[in-house]
Amino acid sequence: MNKHDSERIAGLLSECHFQETLEIGQAEVIIYNTCSVRENADNRLFGHLSQLASLKERKRSLKVVVAGCIAQKMKEDLLERSPHVDIVVGPNDLGALPHLIRMSEEKKARLCQARDKPQQEITSLPSKRKSAFKAWLPIMTGCNNFCSYCIVPYVRGREHSRPFEEVLTEAQELVDDGVVEITLLGQNVNSYHDGNGRGFFHLLEAVSQIEGAKRIRFATSHPKDLSPEVIDLIAQRENICNHIHLPLQSGSNRILSHMNRKYTREHFLHLTSLIQERIPEAALSTDIIVGYLSEEEEDFWDTVDMLKKCRFDQAFIFEFSPRPGTTASMMEDRISKAEKQRRFRMVNDLQKEISWQKNRSYIGRCITVLVEGRSKKDPGEISGRTDNNKVVNFPGSSELIGKMVSVKIVDAGAFSLKGIAHVPRRTTSHENCVIFKGELQRISD
Ligand code: SAH
Ligand code: SF4
Repeated sequence: MNKHDSERIAGLLSECHFQETLEIGQAEVIIYNTCSVRENADNRLFGHLSQLASLKERKRSLKVVVAGCIAQKMKEDLLERSPHVDIVVGPNDLGALPHLIRMSEEKKARLCQARDKPQQEITSLPSKRKSAFKAWLPIMTGCNNFCSYCIVPYVRGREHSRPFEEVLTEAQELVDDGVVEITLLGQNVNSYHDGNGRGFFHLLEAVSQIEGAKRIRFATSHPKDLSPEVIDLIAQRENICNHIHLPLQSGSNRILSHMNRKYTREHFLHLTSLIQERIPEAALSTDIIVGYLSEEEEDFWDTVDMLKKCRFDQAFIFEFSPRPGTTASMMEDRISKAEKQRRFRMVNDLQKEISWQKNRSYIGRCITVLVEGRSKKDPGEISGRTDNNKVVNFPGSSELIGKMVSVKIVDAGAFSLKGIAHVPRRTTSHENCVIFKGELQRISD
């Protein structure tokens, strides 16, 4: 969501004739679009701001803007705490940013605008996408779930679904613009509703029916709301990606109830077996919080047990950090930092082993990859993702960026697969197909 907001900020400023620069020394305006969901995101911002002192010294005209959730949470306090910040702008006021930059310049003033109610939906702002072939498409903003550890409802406000037709129009425009992969975004996409009886199932179905929509992803699904109908729709539609991000958070029913998650481990296991049964190719990823408030050793082992039972393809693991204003922040955080770190390492090591085993089962297979760019690890290689969200690195030319390529997997690690571009042998016309994911896929030669 934060990355998407940054694209809207870039779009808005481009329309006001700002140009992006990759060279910090050339910038007249520096914008930090912040996230405050976990404590270390906060800490990173203050680290970055303290490094600006000498730059501001050399260039008095430089404007430093802090946008996003930390801006919303701290408001004027941020101006007080950080002398290098000129403008604080909350997510509900992003539309005012060009005006604030002008006013700050004209009046030589430090300004803050971070109102609690949305002044203008962020989705109404122009967007400047980073990628020509991948796009985020927010279908809703805010959240009503109030999980006890989570700051999102306090900084992003209440849940609001975008009108059905508006989302469809934007999806069509993206496809017309050559976008190959669209990710529908919301804090809990399964609670989307348009006020006329249409929910997430209907929206996902309608987007998948757009001609030329090649890959559709969505995030995030809340386990209390993911329905069997949506699972069946993913199974039926070739262009809805076989990947579900389903945050478990904890494997202990006691902790889940304390977290206000409104599901049990039994319900979660029921969902995962339904997914595995209906979509055998599906990859599952999750989020886990370790060391939550009163998490006892027994609760922690319930989480370990769930990781072993669900065998997620990938898990994002976080140490609990109290966030201001949340219910959890008002209770005693009983677990020491060292103990949180120990639990983190144990879960992380276990998950790495599971991810590695799952990834190894791909060796020898040919998979379609959407090439996203040059590999970060090895600039001689290119990198992309499979339909079920596996990262694949393989030797290839930059001309393939943005294209779907068939890749033969030759090796696998815990975080990525390694492959070689698969060039089909010359075939006769009736032979030129391979069996892939139970479907017939043409390979053009
Ligand atoms: N809406 C999404 C999550 C958004 S926040 C959902 O419900 O799944 C992304 C992840 O950050 C959460 O899933 C959770 O695992 C983690 N997180 C949120 N608040 C946290 C906190 N206070 N401490 C540690 N991790 C946290
Ligand atoms: Fe936070 Fe829970 Fe909402 Fe996700 S569903 S954003 S974890 S309150």
